[in-house]
This record gives sequence, C-alpha cells and structure tokens, in this order.
Amino acid sequence: MPDVYDLLTAELGPARVLRDEALLDRFATDESGLGRFPPECAVLAESREEVELTLRLAQEHRVAVTPRGAGSGLTGGALPVRGGIVLSTERMTTIREIDPENLIAVVEPGVITGVLQAEVEAQGLFYPPDPASLAMCTLGGNVAENAGGPRAFKYGVTREYVLGLEVVLMGGETLRPGRRTAKGVTGYDVVALLVGSEGTFGVATEITLKLLPAPRAVATLLAVFGDVLVAGRAVTDIIHHGNRPRALELLDRTTIEHLSGRTPYRIPAGAGAVLICELDGDPEGQGAQLLRCAAACEAAGATEIQVASDERQRRDLWATRRLANPTLKALHRRKIAEDIVVPRGAIPAMLQRIDEIAATHNLVIATYGHAGDGNLHVNLLVDDPPGDPAREATIGRALDAIMRATLDLRGTLAGEHGVGLMKQKYLPWEQAAELIRLQRRLKRLFDPDDLLNPGKIFP
Ligand SMILES: Cc1cc2nc3c(=O)[nH]c(=O)nc-3n(C[C@H](O)[C@H](O)[C@H](O)COP(=O)(O)OP(=O)(O)OC[C@H]3O[C@@H](n4cnc5c(N)ncnc54)[C@H](O)[C@@H]3O)c2cc1C
Repeated sequence: MPDVYDLLTAELGPARVLRDEALLDRFATDESGLGRFPPECAVLAESREEVELTLRLAQEHRVAVTPRGAGSGLTGGALPVRGGIVLSTERMTTIREIDPENLIAVVEPGVITGVLQAEVEAQGLFYPPDPASLAMCTLGGNVAENAGGPRAFKYGVTREYVLGLEVVLMGGETLRPGRRTAKGVTGYDVVALLVGSEGTFGVATEITLKLLPAPRAVATLLAVFGDVLVAGRAVTDIIHHGNRPRALELLDRTTIEHLSGRTPYRIPAGAGAVLICELDGDPEGQGAQLLRCAAACEAAGATEIQVASDERQRRDLWATRRLANPTLKALHRRKIAEDIVVPRGAIPAMLQRIDEIAATHNLVIATYGHAGDGNLHVNLLVDDPPGDPAREATIGRALDAIMRATLDLRGTLAGEHGVGLMKQKYLPWEQAAELIRLQRRLKRLFDPDDLLNPGKIFP
C-alpha cells in the first residue's frame, strides 16, 4: 500500500514533495530556537488545490500537518513537533489584486509583508502592519499569529486589516469567510476567530486585506533618556500631552549597548534608554505636531532629542530598531525572548520588576519593544553552555517571575508572537480552565483528530 508521502509525490512530483533529510533540514527549525523537529516530508504548495489535496490525504491517512510560512516565528508555531508533513505556503506569492478605489488587496499567503507594503505604497496606498521581520515573514504567517509591529500603536494589528479569507480545513474542505466591504456583520465573525489561530484551525490560501490611503507626511524623532524608568514614564506623558504617534518604541540600555557601532543610525553613546516616536498625517501642521511631541519628551525627562532630518535618516533609524532582535541573537549563545504586554501605565513598574528579576537570578536581560502598546520584548541573554541543570532551573524561575509580574500588573503573556510551543505552560496562569476547555472544543470542531499543527497552544 502506498503511504501518504508516496501518494503526494505521485500527484505533485518529487521536486515539490521533499523527503530527503538534507532538504528537510530547513523545515525542522524556526526563529524560536526551540530545537530541531524534522518532518517526514515537506510539501511546497503552489495553489489552493494542492493545499486541499494535502489536507485530504493527510486526514485519510491520519498524518499530522504543520503549516509554514517563512519560519520567522518566535514561539515555535511552525515546528512539526509530531513529525508528518510540513505544508509550506511560501511559494504562493502572487498579489492577485490591488484595488485603489475600494482600498483592498487580495494576496496569496506566501507574499512577503514588505513586498506587499512596497507595492501598495507605489500606488499611494498604505498597509500599516509592520512586524520588524517584514523583509522575511509572510502574510499567511502574519494572519496566523495576528502579527503586530511599531505602527500597531495608532493603526492596530493584522486582525484589523483582514476582511476575508480563503481557508482549507483538515480533510480538504475550503471555506471563504469574510467580505470585501468596509463593514459587514453577517453571521459570526469567523475571520476574527481564524486570525491568530496559529495554523491550528485551517490553512489560509487567500487573504483579502483592507488598505488605507498613504499618510502624506511622516516625521520621526529619537528621544534620549538617562534611565529606562524615566523613559517608561514618558510613554504615558507623551500621550497625555495630546500626541498620537503612530509608533512609540523603547530600547533599554543593554539593547543600545549591543547595537553600538553595528547600526546605520548612531544612538548617542551612554544613553540609558531611547524612545523612537513617529508621527504621520498631513504636511500642514506636521511641524507643530513634532514640536509638541518633542516638548512632551523633554518635559518627561529626555536629555536630548534628535529629529530624523530626511527620508534616509528615518530609514536608518528604523533599520537600527529592526536590528535589535538579530543583534542580540548573534552576540549570545542563547536569547530567550518573551513578549509580554502590560497596561501602558504599568510600564515603569514592569521595567523595575525586570531589573529586580535580572539581579536576583544573575542574568543579563535586554528589553525593547512597542512601548506605546505596553508590549515589551524581554530577552534573557545566556552564554553558559547548555545543559547545566542548576542554570536551567534559574532561567526557568526567571521566566516564571517575568510572567507572574506581568499578570500581577494585569497584563497578558503574549502580545504578538503567539503561544506556539513556547508558552503553553503559562496559558492556565492567565486563562480560566473553562475558557481553555471552550478553546479546545473549538479546535475539535475544526480538526476533530488533532492533526493540524498538533501540540501547539494548549498545555
Ligand atoms: C527579527 C524578527 C523580528 C520580529 N518582529 C516581529 C514583530 O515586530 N511583530 C510580530 O508580530 N512578530 C515579529 N516577529 C515574529 C514573526 O516574524 C511573526 O510571527 C510572523 O508573523 C511569522 O510569519 P512567518 O511567515 O515567518 O510564519 P511561520 O513562522 O512560518 O509560522 C508562524 C505560524 O503561522 C502558521 N502559518 C504560516 N503560514 C500559514 C498559512 N498559510 N495558513 C495557516 N497558518 C499558517 C504556522 O503554522 C505557525 O503556527 C519577528 C521575528 C523575527 C525573527
């Protein structure tokens, strides 16, 4: 009897059903650093029909399927922890439609986020969600993780922009929930349920996205602070002064020290923390808005304000911000990244708790992130050789303490990277057993045999 892998190879050909160990290697890991989980095979789908075929055969043969975009996920969502098939949508890269009149884009899931942004910007349009990984991550992955980014502060996260989906369920059935209109309340909001479902409900094969007219002017400033707590307090002060930046990003001293000498924009040496504040809107009034924001930063304790004087400086400043994650990763044996959110007013208290946790556990912690949303990426930087049980236990206790502090401050444990494999243990810390049971029931409704991205989200 041919197995599912033989049947897929017969239908799609060996060039798109990879079974060779060496070729499968890149599907065994992702950016989470959680280890290697080699699948039995990887299907490189190029159409909805091929996704349907894969999910139908996998269901018939009871084989696990893990959807995958670019593998840039930070919580292990794309890791095939039960082996089986990795179903990659990275080759589905067509932008099917950009409709300037109705402000809509229709894309395949493998389109790289930054590619769509460049395409729509060339037509005077704007797709706001901007994960720092936008040069590599796919829109399918963004939908599955409900990705955010710096501009989420003003414009919201991916879910705000997904109007409709084409999604294939385990077994091969295709659904098309959603709409192309600006408004619509027909039936339950199935699209909202699918966005952020981490590839556990279905595989997206087409995404209808809302676009906006591009803002006519953008201005960016960097405010330097002596101390991260002062910068943390400045976040709420800036907003209370009537400013509504589109991005308000924080980098702490440890992050800045790691970036020093390695980035296109030079953050002043000795900075204890910086806030990157970006405003957009009409050119008229932009100067006044910028001055008001700079004054608010100064009133909140900024020691220096630098305004990006041209488009190149703006780009350099954002390229520098985007280098935070890869630089910390490159300079340490291990970078364990948390992605917590606290109410904005609790940022200083959370930063204080992070300092205490680092000191108590003798760890180096670098914190940066989308401070305007209260979303902090807390990174434990570890250089000891792995495998020392005492050290591993200390790291575990530090992570637990970060999670406890977040919940004490009425925060949430995953801001934009999902739960995946990494945070399952913590789900019951935040959510009641009844709520987790309801979500497990939903999962069974979509995938009764637990074959689609099994082993994720739930403890
Ligand atoms: C340097 C760096 C910076 C980052 N910055 C940010 C940031 O600012 N904001 C942010 O939100 N994230 C950020 N991330 C995390 C990551 O880029 C996002 O989670 C992104 O959305 C993942 O997209 P991907 O295509 O790489 O998906 P993958 O990592 O391949 O998969 C992620 C999840 O999506 C599922 N999936 C993928 N494609 C599909 C599909 N077609 N249908 C159904 N499910 C699918 C997978 O099963 C998995 O559960 C960053 C990562 C890195 C490495």
